[in-house]
Amino acid sequence: MRNDVERVEAILGRRTGEKTCSSPLQTATLELMGLADTYWPQAHSDPEMMARLSAAAYEFGGIPSLRVPFDICVEAEAIGCEVRMGRADTPPSIMNPAFTEFDELKIPNLVEERGRIPTLLRATKLLNGRYGSSIPIFTMIVGPMTLLGFLVGIEKTLYTLSTQPQALENALDAIARFNVDYANALLDEGGDFVLVADPVASGDLVAAEHFARYVLPLYQRIRRQLRVRAILHICGNTNPFLRYLPETGFEAFSFHGPEVEVKVARRIIGDRMALVGNLPNATLLRYSTPAVIRARSLKALQDGVDILAPACGFHPHTPLANMKAMVRAVEKYESTVDSPR
Ligand SMILES: [Zn+2]
Repeated sequence: MRNDVERVEAILGRRTGEKTCSSPLQTATLELMGLADTYWPQAHSDPEMMARLSAAAYEFGGIPSLRVPFDICVEAEAIGCEVRMGRADTPPSIMNPAFTEFDELKIPNLVEERGRIPTLLRATKLLNGRYGSSIPIFTMIVGPMTLLGFLVGIEKTLYTLSTQPQALENALDAIARFNVDYANALLDEGGDFVLVADPVASGDLVAAEHFARYVLPLYQRIRRQLRVRAILHICGNTNPFLRYLPETGFEAFSFHGPEVEVKVARRIIGDRMALVGNLPNATLLRYSTPAVIRARSLKALQDGVDILAPACGFHPHTPLANMKAMVRAVEKYESTVDSPR
């Protein structure tokens, strides 16, 4: 029988019809912080606290995966943005862009010693030492559109992409190199899989033609240089891009419901990628009941989700009972499927 790392590896490799419940996105909740006696914002900067709180979703919630960090500001902070670290129920946020113009952008070559990157490397190593190869460790890097948006301004990045996209080329190239260096440093410490999160590449913000022409080649280059299987996460309405996603080379797509329906994603992507998602995190998982979540989870699995997960990470106010309902729904689904695996 496969362990949880082998199961995710097989799912991402499209070698099994098995399903699992994982969260390659943010897992910390207030209840888990209490159970682990480890809280935001301190856990964002302390490797031991980060590892312990990350493991709480597995230890207390039963989610068979580990994921660090809990926020999407690590890279921008390391390159020069000032970050507000938030509170127990509020994640860190970027205060201001670090640069005013694209040609001022300076991306460092050496990633290991900057900002909270040492914290992330150490936390990954701690998790690898404690859970070894039995529980999958998802590492996360912020995708190039989002990181450029944080560094130079999201509005300016989107406006330039739609008016003079060539002006972004050098900046995006440098960011893609940084993405790969950072991902590989995390893998060296024991990460099993990489999730690239690029909320600013959403179909709510980027036209499909610009996605195909400028963003898709970046994803292809990043994916080619990652030595493990990788998941692409894009927020919001990604329906206009679905047909391009298998060309990225990523093994899985992590997406939002209700904006993107599982059946629609499966029909357009076919069997070329695993599907990760898509339970609404700020509404369903935060406010609903375990019974409703169980029903919605079973429907998502029947419709074609391979890795049941929150649409965009767990909201800090998610009740633990709701997290556990997702895990139990996958167990129920798997127990009723009689085909050999
Ligand atoms: Zn998202």
